Amino acid sequence: AKKQRLDKVLSHLGAGSRSEIRKQAKQGLITVNGVIVKDSGFHVDPYHDKLEVGGVARVYREYIYLMMNKPPGVLSATEDKRDRTVVDLLKPEYAVFEPFPVGRLDKDTVGLLLLTNDGKLAHELLSPRKHVPKTYEATVEGEVDAADVAAFAAGVELEDGYVTLPAQLTIRSRERGRQVISYISLVITEGKFHQVKRMFQAVGKKVVALKRVSMGELKLDEQLAPGAYRELTAAELRLLG
Ligand code: URA
Repeated sequence: AKKQRLDKVLSHLGAGSRSEIRKQAKQGLITVNGVIVKDSGFHVDPYHDKLEVGGVARVYREYIYLMMNKPPGVLSATEDKRDRTVVDLLKPEYAVFEPFPVGRLDKDTVGLLLLTNDGKLAHELLSPRKHVPKTYEATVEGEVDAADVAAFAAGVELEDGYVTLPAQLTIRSRERGRQVISYISLVITEGKFHQVKRMFQAVGKKVVALKRVSMGELKLDEQLAPGAYRELTAAELRLLG
């Protein structure tokens, strides 16, 4: 791992502000691999050097796993010149681990987004061969009906000629005003660009709101307000296998 200043690493790990850490270092309270280091600008390998402050170990974890309820208007990316990204929403003590979003939700899509620095897990969840099911809830303009359920179960042809894998469409409710609005759930096992929106487009209907509620066995914690996030529990992490 890249070496970083001792005061920076320790403050990211919650050991105090950089000036507090500088003081503690001067007092001989900080050790690196068991050796007292008085210079808080000393460079350390955060993953491999053993850091202690006042005899308390400060551990830089290798992996971090966060569940976010993605808010609208934010990009599923690590950085962007113009727009705010989901990583911009993270506190420094999480951002320090350099997590990235596992897959993408459109800017206007909300709901379950996993962020991690575990490339292997991300790869497995996203691998087209694994067919990890993803459940979405959508508000659709138009009357979604049994013919659409059958079409999605068989696979629909998108505008570019791609035929989607079987997907399970459930009509939750409808509202009849000047035009019909349908509330649906959809489980897909692949992740083509704008897939849900394009599947409805293929049957002449328009998605006007989209939320992801699960990925594999992992479900969105509905207690998380839009933009809020938390670490996965050990049980949730096991669900992702
Ligand atoms: N399908 C879409 O159309 N958009 C998303 O953000 C996710 C799935």
